[in-house]
Amino acid sequence: MKTIGMIGGMSWESTQSYYQAINQGVKAALGGLHSAKICLYSVDFAEIETLQHQGLWDDTAKILADAAVAVEAGGADFVLICTNTMHKVADEIQAQISIPILHIADATANALLADGITKVGLLGTRFTMEQDFYKHRISDNYPIEVIVPNADDQTRIHDVIYQELCLGNINPQSRQVYLSIIDKLFAQGAQAVILGCTEIALLVQQQHTQVPLYDTTQIHANSEVSMALT
Ligand code: GLU
Repeated sequence: MKTIGMIGGMSWESTQSYYQAINQGVKAALGGLHSAKICLYSVDFAEIETLQHQGLWDDTAKILADAAVAVEAGGADFVLICTNTMHKVADEIQAQISIPILHIADATANALLADGITKVGLLGTRFTMEQDFYKHRISDNYPIEVIVPNADDQTRIHDVIYQELCLGNINPQSRQVYLSIIDKLFAQGAQAVILGCTEIALLVQQQHTQVPLYDTTQIHANSEVSMALT
C-alpha cells in the first residue's frame, strides 16, 4: 500500500471527513484491521482564510508548498490538497515537490464523465465559483459544461461556508437556501450538481434532493484509495 500525503485543516471539519472516507475505503477493499497509510499536515485555517480574503494567494501557496514538502519528506507517495479552493495554487505547490498532486477537479470530472453528465452546476466558495482555475480545468479538459449560481446566490453559498460550515455549525435554514439554489441550477439544465467545497456534504446530502450530487470530498478520497492500492 502506498502512503497518502494529505494537506488538511481547510477546514479541519472536512479533513475529518477525508480521514474517515479514506480509511473506510481501505477497510472495504482489504478488510479486517487494515487502515490507510497517511501522512497528514494540517495547517491553521485562520491564517489561510485571512490571506485568501486579502487576495494574497502567493502567501497561501508558500504555506501549502511547505506542508507538501513536509509530507513528501514524511514518506508520502502522492499528495492531496483537502480543499477545492486551494487548488487555485496547485501548480505552485506541485513545482516544489517531486510526488504528484491528485487534482480534485480531475477526480470529479472523471466521476461525472463515467455517469454521462455533460452539464453540471458547481457550488463552492466564491473563489471556486467565480474564478477559472476550477471551472475551466473541467470544461477545457472534459466534454462537460459547468454553470454556477448568480452573484447573490454565490454570496449566500460562500458566507455559509466560512461563517457556519468551517466552524462546524450545521443550520437547517442554510440547507434550505442551498437546496433552492440547487433547484435553480437544475432548472437551468444542470443534470447534476458538484458539491465543490469539502464542507458542503456536512450540510446537504443526497437524501435531501432528487438532483444528483457529486461530493468532491468522497470522490477525491475514493480516487486516493484506488491510487494507494494500485
Ligand atoms: N474546504 C473548502 C473548499 O473545498 C473551503 C475552505 C477553503 O477555502 O479552503 O473549497
